[in-house]
This record gives sequence, C-alpha cells and structure tokens, in this order.
Amino acid sequence: NSPLLEVDDLHVEFRVRGRRVPAVRGASFTLEQGRTLAVVGESGSGKSVTSQAIMGILDTPPAAITGGAVRLHGVDLLEQSEETRREVRGNHIAIVFQDALSSLNPLWSVGFQIGELFRVHRGSSRKDAKLKAIELLDQVGIPDAKNRVGHYPHQFSGGMRQRVMIAMALALDPEVLIADEPTTALDVTVQAQIMRLLKRIQSERHMGLILITHDLGVVADVADEVAVMYAGEVVERAGIRDAFKRPAHPYTKALLRAIPRVDTVGRELEVIGGLPPNPAALPGGCPFHPRCFAAEDKCKSEVPPWTEPAESHGSRCHFAEEVYTDER
Ligand code: SF4
Ligand code: MG
Repeated sequence: NSPLLEVDDLHVEFRVRGRRVPAVRGASFTLEQGRTLAVVGESGSGKSVTSQAIMGILDTPPAAITGGAVRLHGVDLLEQSEETRREVRGNHIAIVFQDALSSLNPLWSVGFQIGELFRVHRGSSRKDAKLKAIELLDQVGIPDAKNRVGHYPHQFSGGMRQRVMIAMALALDPEVLIADEPTTALDVTVQAQIMRLLKRIQSERHMGLILITHDLGVVADVADEVAVMYAGEVVERAGIRDAFKRPAHPYTKALLRAIPRVDTVGRELEVIGGLPPNPAALPGGCPFHPRCFAAEDKCKSEVPPWTEPAESHGSRCHFAEEVYTDER
C-alpha cells in the first residue's frame, strides 16, 4: 500500500561554473491522499527546488538530481521518460506559483487559457472548454464567472488572479497540488482567503496538497503535517499540532517565535539571527550551529542523526529529546 507521493532521500545539485553546489541533501517526506503537508523554510532551504524536482521542471540554475526517488503510487517518477513526465504534470501533479501575473499569458482571456487545457488534453470543443472554464472559475470563488471568463489577467486583482491560477492547476483533476508560496505577494486578508480556498478544494477533491512557505503562521490552520527544511535537509517532520506545541528542533522553535501574534503586536518580534548558510560553503557538523541558541561544541563537528523523540515526530538535532521536552 504505497503512499500517494513519497520523496525519498532526494539529492539535487546546482552546477555553477564547474562546481557542484548541493541544493537538496537527502530530503524525505510522504504525502497521503486527502492530506495537507506544509514544507517550511527560509529562501534557499531547498523547498522550491524540491517541488520542482517533484514536478520534473528543474532548470535554472542548471540543476541535476543526483540521488533518491520521487514516487507517485510507488512508481519512481525520476525513472520515467520525459513523455511520461509531461503526462504526469497537470494530470496527476499540478503546481501553483507565487507570481500569477508572470504565469498567465497577458494576451489571452483567462477563460481561453483554462479552456486551452481541456482542448489540448481532453479534446474538448471550444464551447465545452468554455463551460468547463466557467465551472472552475466558479469553484475557486470568482464572482460572476460567466462574465469574468472573457476577461484578461490584468483585469483581476492579485488575489483573484491567484484564484485563476488555482483553477488552471485544477483543470485536469490532479491528485497532488503543490502551492509554492501561493500567498506571499498578497496582503494578509487575501492570504487567509486563498489558504482557506486551497484547504476547501483539497478536502472536496480529496487531493494531496503540499504548501510551500517561509511562514509557519499561514499554514497553522490548514496543514496536517509539516516538514521543516534547512540548508537542503528536512530537519523536522511532525504533525502540525505537535510541531507547534512541542517542536523538536531549535530552528523550528525559532521559526515559531518569529510568527506575529495578536498578543505580540507592538512588541518587537524575535527573529532568527544570522543568515541561511551559503550552500557552496556549508558549516561543518550541524549546518544550523552558527545560528542555534542550543548549540554546543559537538554541533560544530558532528552531523546530527535523525532521531524520533515521539512517534511520527522526527528531528535532525543532537538534542532533539531535550528540545522536545523543553529542557533546551
Ligand atoms: Fe542546534 Fe546542535 Fe541541534 Fe544543530 S545539532 S540544531 S546546532 S543543538
Ligand atoms: Mg521559493
């Protein structure tokens, strides 16, 4: 009984001026049908690269998958032909990006762009394709979809455009939807609306949803599980409630403290000091040690193993147990 989607020990490298720079270093997680997984990390943590590897759209800078597997229903996509991968994209796994404006063609009406998918992939007639586009726009909460279907991307607000992108991603009825920072460009109220929309669609369609974000706060209410990435590795994996209540990695703890809350308004937020490491020159031992409040000498020299302080709750930290029990 294979999971819907399984990323298993994935390794991705960038080739930069003859050098090989690691972007993803052994990332593993699974997504079950009808579940939502948040993949959280700062920019450069490898989360977007991981989603591109899942989609089979890794490109710039020149990136290569150097190890691991991406299994859909147990079948390793990395071993399939480009033709098969094309068929998987859209039909089985679809992605929504942050920047809807640059992903849509400004010269075509949104209805035409959505309808095109039905015409090309399903051989629908122009008329049927338009009806399906209207139905989808309606499903993603675009008011007056019948009329709006003929409008162009620039005639929509940022939030409405993101809804159009979601409609396009859903057109071929994928089993897995990946949303890469889907709300980063939007204001807070619209962010929450889009998150709720994604969640509703995920549960109505019983899809697997992967939410890629740098902000743990926005996924708190919608994700079932979380994988926290740092320097190309998954450093913590847990149920979302466990991760919030009892983080087992200092980086997750720090991310949680950085979430704005109602009771911290007006006070300065705690931020994580320092910058994410340069992937071309990763610190030895635990790559988080230069920024970690709990670091000790051994963190500088010994790579922490994956440990599970509780069932289905893992952390890549020498002191995972103590962090988990709040002794650190
Ligand atoms: Fe911090 Fe050490 Fe744990 Fe790394 S291994 S997260 S440096 S305590
Ligand atoms: Mg990104």
